[in-house]
Amino acid sequence: MADILIYTKTFCPFCSNAKSLLKSKGVAWTEINLDDQPSRQSEMIEKAEGRKTVPQIFIDGHGIGGFDDLSALESQGKLDGLLGLQGERASSDQPQCVKVAILGSGPAGLTAAIYAARANLNPVVIAGNEPGGQLTITTEVENFPGFPEGVQGPDLMVQFRKQAERFGTAFKTGNIAKVDLSKRPFTLSLENGETICAEALIISTGASARWLGLDSETRFRNRGVSACATCDGFFFRGKPVAVVGGGDTALEEALFLTNFATAVKLIHRRNEFRASKAMQDRVLKNSKVEVIWDSVVEEVLGDDDKGMTGLRLKNVKTGATSDTAVEGLFVAIGHHPNTGPFKNLLAMDENGYLKVTPGTTRTSVEGVFAAGDVADSVYRQAITAAGSGCMAAIDAERWLAEHE
Ligand SMILES: Cc1cc2nc3c(=O)[nH]c(=O)nc-3n(C[C@H](O)[C@H](O)[C@H](O)COP(=O)(O)OP(=O)(O)OC[C@H]3O[C@@H](n4cnc5c(N)ncnc54)[C@H](O)[C@@H]3O)c2cc1C
Repeated sequence: MADILIYTKTFCPFCSNAKSLLKSKGVAWTEINLDDQPSRQSEMIEKAEGRKTVPQIFIDGHGIGGFDDLSALESQGKLDGLLGLQGERASSDQPQCVKVAILGSGPAGLTAAIYAARANLNPVVIAGNEPGGQLTITTEVENFPGFPEGVQGPDLMVQFRKQAERFGTAFKTGNIAKVDLSKRPFTLSLENGETICAEALIISTGASARWLGLDSETRFRNRGVSACATCDGFFFRGKPVAVVGGGDTALEEALFLTNFATAVKLIHRRNEFRASKAMQDRVLKNSKVEVIWDSVVEEVLGDDDKGMTGLRLKNVKTGATSDTAVEGLFVAIGHHPNTGPFKNLLAMDENGYLKVTPGTTRTSVEGVFAAGDVADSVYRQAITAAGSGCMAAIDAERWLAEHE
């Protein structure tokens, strides 16, 4: 078996995701928690060739990157080989037929799993490449009922999962790449090549962060560019950073970063925010936040040695460009529904959200149900996602009973 080393921090959803994926493989690892051993931070950055994000994962001494890279190896079917597990998975690669398959492990998918498991439907959850969903990249959740003092997003999702497991839900890691909905049972192909068939399907694949789409953004991702302030803000203590966006997420990230950074430049392409009035007031009152209105990021500046060193901004009204020295860029410009595998198979709105029959979770194909943000461009909250996950499980249970 391979020798695995992971640098982590205590609050780090992607570290938890990486450990969950490794745990699902049955392998052991050595962990260096930088909160407990801060003196080893420079060792990690050096070994990881300048990367300033956690987790950093090393397999047999070779740096493979963070959770996204680990997950990509799994999707490409290369991870087992690197972990020295090839041959050991043959039995789990057999096609499996289940009554209900649930795609996604955010609040919608895990609530659907709790209900489906308690109805003895023995569901299998395909957990996706972001186990626990979007709440794993936030800190305090104050509006989920039942937690009068608030709850940390990642902790909440661990509780959801434990509750689903308690009633016998099975889990698989990774994403679904392709589905065949033309005949029942439906066939689902995972990115790692595994195939599952299911009599009913609940889609709760949520939404993903949007990136700016600049080459330089990709080049400096994990070397200054991030989409998760709560994970990576720590590395920018005493340094100036920027946030792009104008919605609640962007403003929340900017405020969070004031705990670490010397200054936070909030770059917004319009001259007013979309965020709630309360959030705007908090940001505009914070002396560490400077709002740069009517501007877009034209390029992330830096070099291979230093990583990111600044941004080239363009004023969209005057066309003037200017450079600003920041060492971190947090991209917070919204989300898109994760509906790629269902394109041309299920009815969607103009933005790619799945359409359901109002008041139900039924999609345009019988036996396929949708829950959570993937079918909700309006509310997009954990509680509404969980509520529709419950509806989807009940809709699926009744549909299965009618079609037995
Ligand atoms: C920073 C931040 C803070 C937030 N704070 C709050 C808050 O305080 N209160 C609140 O109520 N809401 C909050 N939200 C919104 C809330 O997180 C979402 O509304 C909720 O997570 C949606 O749940 P979901 O289950 O529909 O989807 P998600 O949570 O997005 O989960 C989707 C799941 O599907 C998986 N997946 C994606 N593609 C595939 C595929 N092809 N195959 C298999 N699986 C796939 C993903 O890996 C993931 O597990 C916040 C969101 C963000 C980003």
